[in-house]
Amino acid sequence: MTNIILLGPPGAGKGTQAKRLEESRGMVQLSTGDMLKEAIAKGTALGKQVEGIMARGELVTDEIVIGLIEAKMQDGAKGGFIFDGFPRTLKQADALGELLTRTGSTLDRVVEMQVDDAALVDRITGRYTCGNCGAVYHDKTHPTKVAGTCDVCGSTNLKRRADDNAETLKTRLMEYYKKTSPLIGYYYAKGLLASVDGLADVDSVSSEISSVLD
Ligand code: ADP
Ligand code: AMP
Repeated sequence: MTNIILLGPPGAGKGTQAKRLEESRGMVQLSTGDMLKEAIAKGTALGKQVEGIMARGELVTDEIVIGLIEAKMQDGAKGGFIFDGFPRTLKQADALGELLTRTGSTLDRVVEMQVDDAALVDRITGRYTCGNCGAVYHDKTHPTKVAGTCDVCGSTNLKRRADDNAETLKTRLMEYYKKTSPLIGYYYAKGLLASVDGLADVDSVSSEISSVLD
């Protein structure tokens, strides 16, 4: 069992690689962003609480996301967890360490996906996802084979994210640099950090991650 974090700015390719790792290694993706978006879609009290914050591109509170992760970790994962978009602050990183210790497991690797900011605007503004199975696509780099239809599940419910615009990306990037990028040093100091070139094509990034994990 291997537990890993995929660390990188919005659009780095974390979700894309997490889905591949689920398929190839039987790992389980835990994306706090997806959990929060699901709460918004269902119109729950949590969804109503976080909707405005997420639309502005700011981070929701540590307590909310730590609670979501703690609940999901109770289901267990044979192949291990892929933490995607969590932790995003030092407090969340400490909490994750405690949760793993409490469940008798460890964090095995933190994979930093390195990309430059100029590429992120293209990645984010071209992104769309399948509302049914969560598959991730891109207008230019990874379009569906049949326009309007998901390659994986055949659904025609393809969606763009409300926060995937150049303006909100500025806030999301600022949040990343101020609050999340310190985690690179934190995990380096713990001897867990490995960096991969997130600008390479999707298959090459997958191979690089595989060689880090094996
Ligand atoms: P994140 O989860 O880090 O926000 P995503 O996995 O959703 O990022 O990827 C953002 C966008 O970039 C998506 O449209 C995806 O199809 C595209 N993408 C992901 N990885 C690559 C890559 N290596 N090369 C080109 N485009 C990519
Ligand atoms: P993501 O799908 O990872 O890009 O996340 C979308 C949005 O959800 C972010 O811009 C934040 O508003 C919120 N979010 C997701 N994960 C976290 C987290 N770990 N901490 C705080 N806010 C988060």
